[in-house]
Amino acid sequence: MKSAFEAAQQYFDEAATVMDLSHSMRDLLVTPEREIKVQVPIKRDNGEIATFIGYRMQHNSARGPMKGGLRYHHEVNADEVLALASLMTWKTAVVDIPYGGAKGGISVNTKDLSLDELERLTRRFVDEIHDLFGPDKDIPAPDMGTNAQTMAWIMNQYEKFHGFAPACVTGKPVELYGAEGREEATGRGVGTLTLALLRKFGRSIESSTVAIQGFGNVGTFTAAYLHKAGGKVIAISDVSGAILNRMGIDIQAALDWVGEKKSLTGFPGGERITNEELLALDVDVLIPAALGNVLTEDNAKDVRAKYIVEAANGPTTPEADAIFRKREIPVLPDILANAGGVTVSYFEWVQNQQYFRWDLSRVREELERTMTRSFDKIWSIANEKKVPLRTAAYLVGIGRVSRATVLGGI
Ligand code: GLU
Repeated sequence: MKSAFEAAQQYFDEAATVMDLSHSMRDLLVTPEREIKVQVPIKRDNGEIATFIGYRMQHNSARGPMKGGLRYHHEVNADEVLALASLMTWKTAVVDIPYGGAKGGISVNTKDLSLDELERLTRRFVDEIHDLFGPDKDIPAPDMGTNAQTMAWIMNQYEKFHGFAPACVTGKPVELYGAEGREEATGRGVGTLTLALLRKFGRSIESSTVAIQGFGNVGTFTAAYLHKAGGKVIAISDVSGAILNRMGIDIQAALDWVGEKKSLTGFPGGERITNEELLALDVDVLIPAALGNVLTEDNAKDVRAKYIVEAANGPTTPEADAIFRKREIPVLPDILANAGGVTVSYFEWVQNQQYFRWDLSRVREELERTMTRSFDKIWSIANEKKVPLRTAAYLVGIGRVSRATVLGGI
């Protein structure tokens, strides 16, 4: 299997060829502006010292300050963070918010650390990189393994060096300069675009079945949105395995169960199946909403879904993508499908800069407008150029970044 960065590059190259992008521009756009790798030592609760590695990959700032999440996961490595940083460059351009792309991460299994240790880890990471990010440079946000609490620690630690600066990070708690609706934003955006995609194919959510792989922040809010919209979510999963209920899972019951037990294990609302079985279910919409590389050349031929919506970043390998193209299964790509999160991050940053607060209905309205406008644009380019939705999204993203680069000069 290709490395994550090679995979991201393959998608980039394909679109760059369609748009006849010069080799010099390709070189410039593929090369990250700055790669940060730091030692992050902390004192464990038992007094021992533990050493972690932290990354912040700053891919491109042609369109504005760089933006992207911070991931705490034991599989985090330089190649993956760089791939995810480049996805952020195209994602912010696809939804046309004035940002570049970056991503960060610490290679750590969060389950091994206490809350106090996680706080020390986060603050120490900020100590190492505080000069290299900030409201007008690079703005971190939550990703896998991090949440609003992590962002509050980042803001607090950053401000010890630089003074009041809530816009240095997004996805903060609502009580601490966060935006209403940020937590639900990625899932809500995925839900909005799933409905839009179905509509284009003359389908309705009420007559559709959905399987969602991953029941974390993105998976839960996507499930709740589609369930409320009248869809039948028949399968959900987490690391412990998957649940199938052909009558439709009671999503609220699943949310309550996971809220209390922290896992789907033992959830009585359906039969147990494996994660692999979930990916191969005969559903209308399959939504991978967890880690990358879950749809591969080994299982793509088994997928029976009619449409795939990439709520996760990089869930489909290029080999699997080629199989879906051949089988004519439309894939709504990550850089469009899950852009709701960074879009509401932008709204949070705007509010922080203006010392002004929007209410939830305004956030939701503007999110819907941004997502729908971006979807319509990608859809029409895909039809006009006769390319898959992913290529169309890359064409728009790369086009905007390369124009900004030419206009600004180097
Ligand atoms: N981590 C999210 C993503 O991958 C959000 C990034 C952000 O809000 O900056 O898009």
